[in-house]
Amino acid sequence: MESYDFIIVGAGSAGCVLADRLSESGRYRVLILEAGGSERNFWVRMPIGYGKTFYHRKLNWRYTSEPVAGLGDRQVYCPRGRVLGGSSSINAMVYIRGQQQDYDHWEELGNPGWGWDSVLPFFRRLEDNSAGPDDYRGSGGPLRVTGIAGSEHATCSDFVAGCEAAGLARNDDFNGATQEGAGLYQITTRDGIRASAASAFLRPAMRRKNLRVITDAHVTKILFDGRRATGVTYSKGDRVVSVTASREVILSAGAVNSPQLLQLSGVGAPELSATTGVPPVHALRGVGENLQDHLGVDYIYRANRPTLNSVLRPWWGRLSVGIRYVLTKTGPLSISVNQAGGFFRTDLNRARPNMQLYYSPLSYTRAAPGVRQLMLPDREPGFLLGISNCHPKSRGTVRLRSDDPFDPPIIQPNYLSAAEDVEELIDGCMMLRRIASAKPLSEIVEDEIHPGAATITREQIEADLRERASSIFHLSGTCKMGPGDASDVVDARLRVHGLGGLRVVDASIFPELPSGNINGPAMMTGLKGAELILEDHA
Ligand SMILES: Cc1cc2nc3c(=O)[nH]c(=O)nc-3n(C[C@H](O)[C@H](O)[C@H](O)COP(=O)(O)OP(=O)(O)OC[C@H]3O[C@@H](n4cnc5c(N)ncnc54)[C@H](O)[C@@H]3O)c2cc1C
Repeated sequence: MESYDFIIVGAGSAGCVLADRLSESGRYRVLILEAGGSERNFWVRMPIGYGKTFYHRKLNWRYTSEPVAGLGDRQVYCPRGRVLGGSSSINAMVYIRGQQQDYDHWEELGNPGWGWDSVLPFFRRLEDNSAGPDDYRGSGGPLRVTGIAGSEHATCSDFVAGCEAAGLARNDDFNGATQEGAGLYQITTRDGIRASAASAFLRPAMRRKNLRVITDAHVTKILFDGRRATGVTYSKGDRVVSVTASREVILSAGAVNSPQLLQLSGVGAPELSATTGVPPVHALRGVGENLQDHLGVDYIYRANRPTLNSVLRPWWGRLSVGIRYVLTKTGPLSISVNQAGGFFRTDLNRARPNMQLYYSPLSYTRAAPGVRQLMLPDREPGFLLGISNCHPKSRGTVRLRSDDPFDPPIIQPNYLSAAEDVEELIDGCMMLRRIASAKPLSEIVEDEIHPGAATITREQIEADLRERASSIFHLSGTCKMGPGDASDVVDARLRVHGLGGLRVVDASIFPELPSGNINGPAMMTGLKGAELILEDHA
């Protein structure tokens, strides 16, 4: 049986950073196993290819939740990257770190070393910001973070000015001193090409002889000797292979698959072993609990002047921006559709922003299910205004469906099960309306298509939310970090409670969601996790 010092399961946002750092000194033999294949794919590399990878059979796990009571029993689509780079290879590239208070709160929950002052240096080390370094931004790191000023659609300025008229301050850097306000997003691209965790961290590290990457390797089980993890079994094609780790097995399979793998290996609630037939190894009730996600809704407007619909809908428009992209890596295909946005407080008595804003200068309302609509925008000009909650209170679960490792787990996000989530999202929708009716944005609005003029009262807005709200794709929290309460899965050094040689290092360790998009926080977790591991083996 082949043996390595460290085996990492999953080459996603956190796993790629981890593989890079653990292999850097050359002292350790590191194996990273990834269920998907190469990220060197046209649709992954071209930023707007996001629309294609969204339902891609090979690049995406394409999970679906169970019916969600709070959303009228709708099942919600849960895309997850299944490719080198993981979800960072299929995400919308908006780069946000979160608020200082998010991390200070993690520390208050019993996780020393995870407060803002401790995590900021890791965020800075990861980053190569196109605006250069300052007290908050990093420069010279592997991950290129690009400001989009100059490439954005002309109507973004109407949106930002509309926000200002509605009372929000202008903010040119949501990753700076304050997150609050409206402005343009920064995105993870380098020279018009997606900067995934694979292209930024794993590819350069793959030149090292002590790092081995195996793709199309689906890990099916963690191997234990008593209470110590000693290796894993994976399936590749028709082969089943076992490999051993002399130091540690590290799960970086993401918030759906890390808890699934623990449960498949007998680590989880004892009742689950009874229903699935998986022999129990260690009772740990928190595995797969505490599932959190940001929930969002879009308000869709018809515009009286050209938006990206006019470019991306007709074939000749697509051809022209396509040629521009291929020749120069510029233009609308080189950036995210979420071009502008911001953060605001739904109630000014709150201490910090609780709602994120999105502006996309295109609209899509009529595509068939299964087709990511942004590849088929509306014929008439239009745009989207969206919100999502920063600090949802609803909690869900990820549970094993059966003992078959290829059976998708049962994902129940329980969106809108907490009354506070409903109330603040209604307030957020009301703010969207205020922004849309503030000059100069109001001057380009022809009509509100969804939800439309008949949706006025709080009850009607709530009904619309339950009918249309959907995931912002920030699933996390399912292997919660904490000091050892019943719901905690890993400690502040990311070691699985009660077991040896086993850590979880990915977005599933977040005790609570950071405010905003979580690719950056997942990568920070990868880098900080690597430092903890290296310290423990020094
Ligand atoms: C469609 C979409 C849009 C998003 N937009 C944004 C955005 O604009 N900005 C932002 O910051 N965040 C965004 N996110 C969220 C963010 O990208 C993810 O939360 C983050 O990448 C998660 O990192 P991770 O390391 O926890 O897991 P992942 O990056 O998902 O990595 C997990 C890896 O493990 C592999 N794996 C899983 N199971 C196994 C197994 N059994 N064996 C071997 N390998 C396995 C997977 O294939 C995957 O490569 C988006 C996510 C999605 C899906």
